[in-house]
Amino acid sequence: MNIAGTLRQWLSKRSGPLVIQECRNCGTTLSDDGVECPNCGSTSVARYEVP
Ligand SMILES: [Zn+2]
Repeated sequence: MNIAGTLRQWLSKRSGPLVIQECRNCGTTLSDDGVECPNCGSTSVARYEVP
């Protein structure tokens, strides 16, 4: 399998900016729709968008 080709496919498939959500308390990266940290239960989540 060609990793560069796979990555290019993935990049072309996604739409909009990449959203990264990270717990402000423990630093766990949450899934896109996460509202609360599965690790520590904190709802204080930092949200970053990478265009
Ligand atoms: Zn946390």
